[in-house]
Amino acid sequence: MSNYKTGLDFAKKQDANDPLSSYREQFHIPKDKHNNELIYLCGNSLGLQPKSTKNYINQELEDWANLGVEGHTHAKNPWLPYHEFLTTSMSKVVGAKPIEVVVMNTLTANLHFMMVSFYKPTTTRYKIIIEADAFPSDKYAVESQLRHHGYDDKEGLILWKAREGEELLRYEDLETILDKHGDEVALVMIGGVNYYTGQFFDLKRITKLGHKHGCMVGFDCAHGAGNVELNLHDSGADFAVWCTYKYLNSGPGSLGGCFVHERHAHNKTLNRFTGWWSHNKETRFKMRDEFDVIPGAEGWQLSNPPILSMAAIKASLDIFEEVGIKKLNQKSKDLTAYFEFLLKELGQDTIRIITPNNPDARGCQLSIQVKNADRALHDKLTEAGVISDWREPDVIRCAPVPLYNSYQDIYHMVEKLKNILK
Ligand SMILES: *Cc1c(COP(=O)(O)O)cnc(C)c1O
Repeated sequence: MSNYKTGLDFAKKQDANDPLSSYREQFHIPKDKHNNELIYLCGNSLGLQPKSTKNYINQELEDWANLGVEGHTHAKNPWLPYHEFLTTSMSKVVGAKPIEVVVMNTLTANLHFMMVSFYKPTTTRYKIIIEADAFPSDKYAVESQLRHHGYDDKEGLILWKAREGEELLRYEDLETILDKHGDEVALVMIGGVNYYTGQFFDLKRITKLGHKHGCMVGFDCAHGAGNVELNLHDSGADFAVWCTYKYLNSGPGSLGGCFVHERHAHNKTLNRFTGWWSHNKETRFKMRDEFDVIPGAEGWQLSNPPILSMAAIKASLDIFEEVGIKKLNQKSKDLTAYFEFLLKELGQDTIRIITPNNPDARGCQLSIQVKNADRALHDKLTEAGVISDWREPDVIRCAPVPLYNSYQDIYHMVEKLKNILK
């Protein structure tokens, strides 16, 4: 792992020896106006399109054209149980049991639905802990839940902050917060992989800590799903939510995923918002029955889902199923370490990587802080054919995605950065 070399020959050799290199051909790689492939390092924001996606969606379009409403039961992939076709492979991606996972709604909507069930404030225990640098949507969602229950959204929110001069969060500091305020906290809600720093948290450790203090624990795994081994079941978390358009390559705004731990699967007394899709499948269409909730994560569904979006998710999950998250993880660690190696070769004083250097505490994203840089640097990179992501004030986020990025992508990216910085 550590015998990296500079130079294009080394990158070419790595690609030639990469057992996953052929998967790149299964994706559409965006091109510049001269028809050259761009260096796409933005899979953490919007994953690329599998070439197979079109066929999966076309199948449903055709069945809809030919069968109309009969497609619910007679389509090649019948629409009534369509979400079930995604469950097994999605549960493998996030390390859960099938009964714990469902694909439904969108990410922030799912976060709210989970909080309806797992944020149960009382007069003495109503606060919520999030990361100080949580993704804005998560912060807004959590604040609005506090207000919804009649609490002040500043007083009720506890931020787990990085120390002065640091970016990464320390578990000791979360322990200190919980030792002090644990009995006031109803919910600990953390981003499994922080979107800004790329820090991959120890979900099990956080869950244990929260549970020890009597709190519910949930994770937003938007940047974790399809990127790292989440092992959601073993983490013991009460719930988790994620999207499928980042590392899961299912298209802009595609549906989200949701995890509810098995220990809650048969608890019918949990408060929740419901709809006909959370009702017993056997009697759903009798339409007049008393509500009878489906056990497991499926019991949080509300509506019959958009099949076209689910077809795109199926196309992507079939690729994940074939490769396996373990192999992906191996390449991810290797490719990211190579990227880190080349960036360090560029010089320590201009470039600082704020993502953890421990490979187990990060996924494939590196957040690169460039001294005295502003947005112009990002624009120059874009002009040079590198698609990355800029975060104010001075951070470029790049995600070498193991499914479709190559060692040569990384080599060329760093060469271009070097030329711009010169
Ligand atoms: C991408 C992302 C979101 C986006 O939420 P949507 O509801 O899908 O628009 C929310 N939270 C986190 C942590 C994210 O990374």
